[in-house]
This record gives sequence, C-alpha cells and structure tokens, in this order.
Amino acid sequence: RKLNIALIGLGYYATYQLAPAFAQTQFANLAGVVSGTPSKIEDWKKKYNIPEKNCYNYQNFDKIIENKDIDAVYIVLPNSMHHEFALRAAKAGKHVICEKPMAVSVREAEEMIAACKKAGVQLAIGYRLHYEPFTNEVMRLAREKDFGKVKFVEASFGFKLRDTNAWRMKKAFAGGGPMMDVGIYALNASRYATGEEPVSVTAQWVKTDPEIYKDIEETLFWQLKFPGGAISSSTTTYNGNVHRLFVSYENGNLEMSPAYDYGPLKGKTSKGEMNLPVIKHQTAQLEAMSEAILNNRPVRTPGEEGLRDMKIIEAIYKAAETGKEIKL
Ligand code: NAD
Repeated sequence: RKLNIALIGLGYYATYQLAPAFAQTQFANLAGVVSGTPSKIEDWKKKYNIPEKNCYNYQNFDKIIENKDIDAVYIVLPNSMHHEFALRAAKAGKHVICEKPMAVSVREAEEMIAACKKAGVQLAIGYRLHYEPFTNEVMRLAREKDFGKVKFVEASFGFKLRDTNAWRMKKAFAGGGPMMDVGIYALNASRYATGEEPVSVTAQWVKTDPEIYKDIEETLFWQLKFPGGAISSSTTTYNGNVHRLFVSYENGNLEMSPAYDYGPLKGKTSKGEMNLPVIKHQTAQLEAMSEAILNNRPVRTPGEEGLRDMKIIEAIYKAAETGKEIKL
C-alpha cells in the first residue's frame, strides 16, 4: 500500500521538485492537490491523473476530513501559512508533512506539534538532506569519530535574491530573511555535523543595501558553542552565493561545496573524495517518510527537529538585536 498524499501550494518546489519525485517512489502516491488557482488544478489533474474529488481550494480544504483516499498532506506554502494549514490538516485527521522552516515562530511550531499529537497524526518536516548519503556521512563522522572529536564547523548558505515582490522578501510571509529560507540549512548542518545541541549563540547583522532589503535581514553571521567544546561560525545572505560546509576534527577535516543544493553534492575529507551515491533527495525523503507513516513508526525528521531549529533561530535574531550572547 502507498501513502496517499495531497500537496498544498503548487508553486516552484511542489511543481519542479516534489511532484516529479513521486514517480520513483514505492510508498508515496501523489493523490490530491490543494490550490487557490483553478487552472493549476486542471493542469495537475491531467498530468498526474488526480481525480476531481481529491482537489481542494484553501476555503473548502477542511472537507478533506471526509476523504478516505487522502492519508496525508504536504504543505509547500509560504512559511507564514504552514501553521494554519498544519492545524487544519491535523483537525481533519491527516498526517502532516511540512516544508522548512516549519513555522515563523517557536510558538507556532509548538502549536503544530501539540495539534498533531492531539489528533494522533504524524508531523514530518521536509529536511531533505537528512535522507541523502553525503549528509548521512557527515552525521556518521560525528557519531563514530573517524577523525576524532569535532573542533570547529563553518556552515554557510546564501544566494542572491533582489526581487522585492517575492514573498521571501516580506517578513509577514517569510518570518524573516535568508535565515528562515536557507540559513536554516547552515544551522541544521552545524547541529548534525557536531551531533550536539548548541548551548549559546552570538550573532551580528550587516545591511549594505537597505533599499532592497527593507523588510528583512540581508546578511546574518552567527556563532554557536556546543557542549563538547566545538564551536561553529555561519553566514546566511540574500546578497551573495555561498553553499559551504567545513568541519575540522581533532585529526582531519571535511569540506563540502555545494553542501545543501539539490545535487549533485560534492565533498572531500582528509581521506579523499567523498564517493557517495548521488540521489534525488525529494524521492528519498518521500519514500522514507511514507514508509514510516504507513508502518506507524516515527519519521526521521519530526516536528521536534523543526522546533529545535526554530528555537535557535529566535535566539540568533535576539542575539543580533541585542549584541548579547544568548544562552539556549
Ligand atoms: P513559491 O512561491 O514558488 O510557491 C508558493 C505557493 O504558495 C505558490 O503556488 C503560491 O501560489 C501559493 N500561495 C498561496 N497563498 C499565497 C500567498 N498569500 N502569497 C504567496 N503565495 C501563495 O515558493 P516555493 O519556493 O515553492 O516555497 C514554498 C515552501 O517550500 C517554503 O516554505 C520554502 O521554504 C519551501 N522550500 C523548500 C525547499 C527544500 O529544498 N526543502 C526548496 C524550496 C522551497
């Protein structure tokens, strides 16, 4: 049996990354769509053979409670809408898969976790890298310590975005700037590269172009201290390209660039090139999440994983605002 999933929000990521990924899965089925644009629904019905009864708009979405042919929804909307649709889906008794960042605040993330728990449904966050071999190797090195303990991590992710009309540039929709969009990957990487949760954070922001980056941060730098003694340094920005993860261990190092893109990812360690399988992240993620949900097992990246990042992101913003070290 397959997990029947309805995608909510048919924008770039749903259309060009998630939808094609279903074709290669054994356990995930693209069963329905939720969209505010009727013409998109018509296109998707034809292209993916989706029956009319599995199509909804944002107003009639709650009727999905009556639809036995949908098991789960996958929220691929602007960040500020994740919370509302996660709560509505949980209320309708559907499992929730939600894109990163899971929400725009810690409070929202906690409410999403509570709502899914109350409804007895799973909440999974779309951290696709956790399902991909290069990232799994970084995690393994933290666990098995081939090169000894982690001393220092440098994790940065930024790209050039100047379109002032984009929802990503509006705090009300994105919850923040590049930190919310791609900085979260760098933050998550510093956590999986050390295998630890940070204990304190300092941060600084720089704005060179206040005309363009009116509503959100342009560039943000932050530093974390980890309980085992490791420290990390990260940058996120909408004003330049950086896709790098560097880990310095007691007896060696690892360097990946690009470290967070859809792939192929590339990296090397002190032992040489990382020769690992190149896979489609979204396929691996959908497959693992669907199999876990169908078998009533916990997913690898639950709401709690998203909440940890949200708590640190709030602390990073507070540290940048106050100039103080914030304890976690
Ligand atoms: P997008 O702008 O391409 O798509 C967003 C969709 O939401 C559009 O179809 C739009 O019509 C719809 N929408 C509904 N109400 C809207 C409103 N009021 N304003 C704007 N759009 C509205 O964005 P995207 O790149 O597909 O990102 C969607 C989500 O997916 C975000 O949370 C993003 O962080 C996440 N994402 C994750 C990855 C990943 O690699 N995991 C990659 C890209 C995006």
